[in-house]
Amino acid sequence: MIDSPSTDLRDGEIAVDQTRPADATVQFIGTIRTPFVTRDMCPRQGRLDGPDCRLELHPDWAPALKGITAFEHLDVLYWLHESRRDLVLQSPRGDGETTGTFALRSPVRPNPIGVSRVRLIRQEGNTLIVKGLDCLDETPLIDIKPELCAYTPQALRKDADEA
Ligand code: SAM
Repeated sequence: MIDSPSTDLRDGEIAVDQTRPADATVQFIGTIRTPFVTRDMCPRQGRLDGPDCRLELHPDWAPALKGITAFEHLDVLYWLHESRRDLVLQSPRGDGETTGTFALRSPVRPNPIGVSRVRLIRQEGNTLIVKGLDCLDETPLIDIKPELCAYTPQALRKDADEA
């Protein structure tokens, strides 16, 4: 019979939680269409007076847009699919000065999730027309949420202390 490895700790030893999942699956809910077909064409950050862009949802997710037109601004999350993912320190200006990945909004990161605050212009069926994106045409769409400031929770309060 083989003994299980010990989970005991000696003085000063620290163990990391091994129960966390090592991976997660991200489900793309649609595709973003923008006029930016090369990275050089993309703005560094989107502008609310930028060009119209389209959030084209997979038809399965179209009902999930119910109520969305009540919001003028949305937070859009997307997968910066052409990014490398291995840099810990980066030199954005290429001058040898480095900054840590988590101190930058660079698309180069271990999980290349982009976030933009956009203005909702209109809904056309399963598509939202928005302004404020900075991503390449055909960037995969991950999520859409009402902007935090405008959002009033519709669920019951979690506890009596929560306003
Ligand atoms: N607004 C997002 C954020 O702050 O999380 C992204 C900012 S990032 C600096 C935007 C830049 O990422 C663009 O200027 C472009 O160079 C690059 N980019 C855009 N779409 C991309 C994609 N699908 N894959 C890789 N890089 C992309």
